Amino acid sequence: MTTTVYILMGSNLGDREKNLAMAAEKIEAVPGLEVIALSGVYVSPAQDMEGENPSFLNQVVKTDYQYLSSELLNALELIEKKIGRTGKGKKEPRPIDLDILLFGEEIIENDTLSVPHRELLNRPFAMVPLLEIDPDIEHPVTKRPVAEFLSEEGRQEIVLYKDYVARNV
Ligand code: AMP
Repeated sequence: MTTTVYILMGSNLGDREKNLAMAAEKIEAVPGLEVIALSGVYVSPAQDMEGENPSFLNQVVKTDYQYLSSELLNALELIEKKIGRTGKGKKEPRPIDLDILLFGEEIIENDTLSVPHRELLNRPFAMVPLLEIDPDIEHPVTKRPVAEFLSEEGRQEIVLYKDYVARNV
């Protein structure tokens, strides 16, 4: 049994494109995980951060995963560490940030995980790449299509930086 899981990757420090590519490679190597699709890379200004910060590149990875959400979170945190993220400061630039957007239809609320990601429906930079992969996807809590939560204004804030170029995934 596998679960369809969507992971949002974000980078706004260092060689951002390289960080995303490295993270995607490491995600592919997570035991029990198979990459199904990658979105294009999108660029948007850093939000909720102090002072001037480089813009964010974001990309969504669609995967099939065999194990528990807690095990995936551990694997993703290890990848963040390997790519150089040190602190957990919300407001600091980071080489890589990995968030679980959706874990199948599961609704998870515990000390370490909140899934669907609490901010998904407030964040065009998460919804745009997600909807590129699955335009009709439904949000398991609201039971509404995610697309209904993305305004035209929000959509326009998120600019395609680079189309996904097929690799051997
Ligand atoms: P951040 O600094 O945004 O990467 O926050 C990471 C922390 O958020 C981790 O310690 C996780 O335990 C927690 N967290 C809660 N929900 C999620 C989620 N859906 N995906 C990733 N991390 C999550």
